[in-house]
Amino acid sequence: MNRSDLPQFEIERSHNPTSDAQRLEILANPGFGRFFTDHMVTIRYSPDAGWHSPTVKPYGPIALPPAAAVLHYAQEIFEGMKAYHRADGKIGLFRPEENARRFQASAERLAMPPLPQDLFLASLHELLEIDRAWVPDGEDTSLYLRPFMFASEEFLGVRPSNEYLYCLIASPAGAYFKSGPKPVSLWASADYTRAAPGGTGSAKCGGNYATSLLPQSEAIENGCEQVVFLDAVHRQYVDELGGMNIFFVYDNDKTIVTPQLGTILPGITRDAVFRLAEEAGYRVVERQYSIEEWRNDSHSGDLSEVFACGTAAVVTPVGTVRDSKGEFGTDSSAAGPLTMKLRQKLLDLQHGKVADPYGWTQTVS
Ligand SMILES: *Cc1c(COP(=O)(O)O)cnc(C)c1O
Repeated sequence: MNRSDLPQFEIERSHNPTSDAQRLEILANPGFGRFFTDHMVTIRYSPDAGWHSPTVKPYGPIALPPAAAVLHYAQEIFEGMKAYHRADGKIGLFRPEENARRFQASAERLAMPPLPQDLFLASLHELLEIDRAWVPDGEDTSLYLRPFMFASEEFLGVRPSNEYLYCLIASPAGAYFKSGPKPVSLWASADYTRAAPGGTGSAKCGGNYATSLLPQSEAIENGCEQVVFLDAVHRQYVDELGGMNIFFVYDNDKTIVTPQLGTILPGITRDAVFRLAEEAGYRVVERQYSIEEWRNDSHSGDLSEVFACGTAAVVTPVGTVRDSKGEFGTDSSAAGPLTMKLRQKLLDLQHGKVADPYGWTQTVS
């Protein structure tokens, strides 16, 4: 990154940062998304000035006019990534330029001006520099980074906003699983879908999550932890979970099947799994995979493992699946061997515990 070409960030330090004692108490048990670091980044966009006024400032409320476009028409996108405490004592990032690229692709789909990738990356470095002490160093812990941007123009007409605000906030995250990964149970909804062809399924936007909340409640009512969404046209092909991509492992012919891109989110973990699975001797096939194929191959025993993946939970085993016809899947209380192997490999790379021949990891300081 050539920092000299970038606008200088204005730095406004917090006057009442969290005390060391308080922060250590939070970092000992941060949970997920409940606590935030002392600072945030904002960058504004207007048609005349373009992206301007990059600022690091105290974490705090954002004042918006009630007519701000995002509050009415949901023109909003986000990213999700993590900063890791590495074995060498440095702070690490995992493929951040992929997040920068995807943030631009999401912006394009939502008719927003793309944030230059080097500005996106610079914002991460600026925040991590000032809030470095917030990166937890426990096993499987991280500082979750949440870049997002939204339509801030005060205007109720239906057209793309002229003004935008980019923000970056950070939240310490504890180990997702306290005692090793536990298989997640899934609900396949017959009534609700997540994304249709031509829609926003491949963009990381808040709207996709808004539509997933009701089916998620349905999953809980049916005794399942998460939803697995089926395609909106045939209502039979597996798309993905609310926030994770899904893989089906066949040991008999050393193949892994995963839904093809289109209406699903192109996960960066998904892409990393392709490479790691191939190195583990599996062929990855992207194709339509129906819930009936899943059901049949579970019953016959041909299907060896199922796992979901994403930044938040890394690689997570899938246990049982329930739909209107009943329940199937692996009821095992433990993750399969390939699931565990991929999960450990990713964690080791992210925490700098093994050499990275892929060029996926970056250090901040
Ligand atoms: C973010 C997200 C994923 C996972 O993407 P990663 O880049 O691997 O974190 C998968 N599905 C959806 C719907 C998502 O929003």
